[in-house]
Amino acid sequence: MDDGPMGGGGGGGGRQREPADTDALYKVLGVDKKASDSDIKKSFRRLALKKHPDKGGDPEEFKKIQAAYEVLSDPEKREKYDKYGLEGLEGGDMPEGGMDVFDLFFGGGRRRARGGKRKAEDTVYPLKVSLEDLYNGKTAKLAITRSVMKGEPKKCTTCRGQGVVVQMRQIGPGMVQQLQSRCPDCTGGYRVQMKKERQVLEVNVDKGASHNTKLRFSGMGNESPNAEPGDVVFVLQQKEHATFKRKGADLLLQKDISLSEALCGFKFVVRQLDGRQLLVQSKPGQIVRPEVTSGVPYVMCVEGEGMPKHGNPFDKGRLFVLFTIVFPPNYSLGEEQMEMLKTALPPAINDEGYDPETVEEAMLDEIDLNELGKGQGASGDDDDDDDEAGHNGQRVQCAQS
Ligand SMILES: [Zn+2]
Repeated sequence: MDDGPMGGGGGGGGRQREPADTDALYKVLGVDKKASDSDIKKSFRRLALKKHPDKGGDPEEFKKIQAAYEVLSDPEKREKYDKYGLEGLEGGDMPEGGMDVFDLFFGGGRRRARGGKRKAEDTVYPLKVSLEDLYNGKTAKLAITRSVMKGEPKKCTTCRGQGVVVQMRQIGPGMVQQLQSRCPDCTGGYRVQMKKERQVLEVNVDKGASHNTKLRFSGMGNESPNAEPGDVVFVLQQKEHATFKRKGADLLLQKDISLSEALCGFKFVVRQLDGRQLLVQSKPGQIVRPEVTSGVPYVMCVEGEGMPKHGNPFDKGRLFVLFTIVFPPNYSLGEEQMEMLKTALPPAINDEGYDPETVEEAMLDEIDLNELGKGQGASGDDDDDDDEAGHNGQRVQCAQS
């Protein structure tokens, strides 16, 4: 376990999660990071006039200028970029018109290394982590096997380094078809023997990291002739937890309590993800209800007992508790106890008087709400308008009025 600052250099020589570059867009526009909105606008106008493809500018460079301006001229996007770099801009933050900032700044969706050299495929491994690991942070040494080149690659003679071979085929008098296919004797125009190599990587899982977080080790993946080595990417896979469900920085706990606990208070011990024993209890006089309103669960929360927030682990989310009130079974209360309860609890809501001579008595049985409309003698063709309450399929007791 390593409680020190995470994300530093790993022992294996690879870099894990390179610090976000939050400068590139400013450099493109030639402005300072503290530049005001109007400075950014002025600089963009000046560059747009000078670098426009119509004025002989490089179209790629012009696109970058446009993309940088789109991000930096939008306060919300600029804030995200300042915090997280281009990684912080995803989906809806991308400049409109299908332009992908990543493609523009990293070329071909981050596939190409700087300098334009082809980059070998990334090797992606899922990495299962427990909720405890994500709460406390974790350092793990993982052994992987990568393909590396044995000796220097030689240019292929079959294809003269092209990687592809072209065959001519006569398909009719005077008509020739050109067939291009991958060279059978090489990879990408170069011949080299490959060997397997074992590599141990030190993976730091940050406190508060989320499911599907990618941890990238630049250049630690497979080698390929005439290409930059690929990256190794570990993708965090959060395992199910027996006690907690996680949503962002919040945790949810389901807890059964008895009716008496719901009315008179409760306390129970939760083993927190760092091993602490947390005594969770109601405030004096607090009553736990079965629902807030029909179908809306009643939940309570403990501030600061959720997951650490990523990037600021001292700030934690909330621990939500969703209660299920366990009612006593039928016939469990004696006359005397019922009288005591009646005295203690607020009076009945249904206490209108009646004339015993004129009423008929009706007793109730339990039934499933889905049975509504299926009674004997029902015509069965009018179930569209009779089951307003039946849509959600809840089990209710006829006894409730
Ligand atoms: Zn070849």
